Amino acid sequence: KRTLHWFRRDLRLHDNTALRQAVDSAEEVIPVYVISEWKGEHRWTGPNRQEFLCQSLAELAERIEQAGGRLIFRQGNAVRELALLVKETKAEAVYFNRDPDPFGREVEEELVRVGAAQGFEVRACKDACLHERDEVLTGSSEPYRVFTPYSRAWAKLPKDKPVARVSKLRTPGGIRSESVPTLETWRIALDAQVIAGGEDAARKRMAALVASGLASYGAVRDRLDLSGTSRLSQDLRYGLISIRELFGRCREKMETLPATQRDNAAKYVGELIWREFYQQILWHYPEVLEDSFNPKFRGMRWKSDPAAFDRWCAGETGFPVVDAAMRQLAQTGFMHNRARMITAMFLTKDLHIDWREGEAYFMRQLTDGEIASNNGGWQWSAGTGADAAPYFRIQNPWTQSARFDPDAAYIKQWVPELRDLPAEKLHVAPASGLPIALGYPAPMIDHATEREWTLQMFAKHQGAT
Ligand code: FAD
Repeated sequence: KRTLHWFRRDLRLHDNTALRQAVDSAEEVIPVYVISEWKGEHRWTGPNRQEFLCQSLAELAERIEQAGGRLIFRQGNAVRELALLVKETKAEAVYFNRDPDPFGREVEEELVRVGAAQGFEVRACKDACLHERDEVLTGSSEPYRVFTPYSRAWAKLPKDKPVARVSKLRTPGGIRSESVPTLETWRIALDAQVIAGGEDAARKRMAALVASGLASYGAVRDRLDLSGTSRLSQDLRYGLISIRELFGRCREKMETLPATQRDNAAKYVGELIWREFYQQILWHYPEVLEDSFNPKFRGMRWKSDPAAFDRWCAGETGFPVVDAAMRQLAQTGFMHNRARMITAMFLTKDLHIDWREGEAYFMRQLTDGEIASNNGGWQWSAGTGADAAPYFRIQNPWTQSARFDPDAAYIKQWVPELRDLPAEKLHVAPASGLPIALGYPAPMIDHATEREWTLQMFAKHQGAT
């Protein structure tokens, strides 16, 4: 028997559900990746993520070769290419792991239709998360709309165990393949220094987390100036590590930790649950991609202000912590979670710009850009989202930086114009809108004034609906 394994967001040989099943069920497996026909311009795609993807695919191709197989690349419409490949190779089935977002889901449904029409088996597996779709529901079989009860129900469910790494597979010879994609494939250039891709680098990051980061995570995760988080988001996004293995290793480690450190580690597991919470929100309520999750705030009138938006993107707002974060994003394709909240609130609550503009910019820049988490994070920050964070809780960028970057080490790392100033000067608004340092812009707005404006904007909208 011959089976195709369609690689998508599962670029690994360790604990890969569909790949394992494909290898166990057939003598010959044809691993295939279908390269998109992206033309270099897309509201939600950018070079950083493509670079990470290319690195990860190159390594995957090598690992598959070491296991005795060959990764086939095709380019174009995924369903068409898969159906052609099935015909060419006389394969009987296509196996793949499900994609949690609605765009992936559409393609899967189309593949099922084509498979039924052309007579090949299509098998989809759960792999990207521990619990998906309708697995976590309320007592009355409704999806959860609030995180805390969802997380309690999630924690109670039994968890799947990892499956064995695929170390041997046979691919028939003579199959046409494109070469491993590089940024040249899409004719795009890279400006940022992105984190190393590939399964090996991701596994090293996971090992480092389990060995040391986990025990202190809860205590340091919010500090902008420390490397206190796992840096595994892009690895989960592309499936370079498996969520089952990560969760299992965290749980094992937790049993060995004293109580305080166990609490720190539990906070980490809580973040993994947030990831699945947003995935299930998007699954049940795909309309969040269009408008507010909270029905009270649908149709809100945000501002469009291209000049202010450009200053935010460039990290030229005159708010040191905001600028540091936006420059970190532009230069590395990553931004610390606390900084994502600060910059997202600044765009929405201080500049009153539509959160969908920020959401799209983040999607173009972030190496870990994930539709569900990004949308969830933006709606949370804008005050329109699924969690109980009320719109009137508006973070003050000055006090946020004093709390989470006390020595201003993060600010100084990304905003060199401010390197010679004492930290205290970087956490308070300068008098009468003057710049804090020569060559650095004056704050573009007054936070207290804009905060009031936001409160009125939300109040007016509620009054009008
Ligand atoms: P850690 O702190 O080590 O967290 C562990 C893992 O838990 C992460 O790798 C991630 O998979 C998950 N996680 C952590 N926080 C969240 C969260 N709030 N929501 C969902 N999952 C979470 N995360 C993305 O993966 N992709 C995005 O596109 C994305 N966009 C965001 C946009 C905004 C406005 C905000 C506020 C948050 C966003 N997040 C996103 C969540 C979070 O900021 C990142 O997951 C985190 O910063 C990644 O760094 P880390 O791996 O070191 O995280």
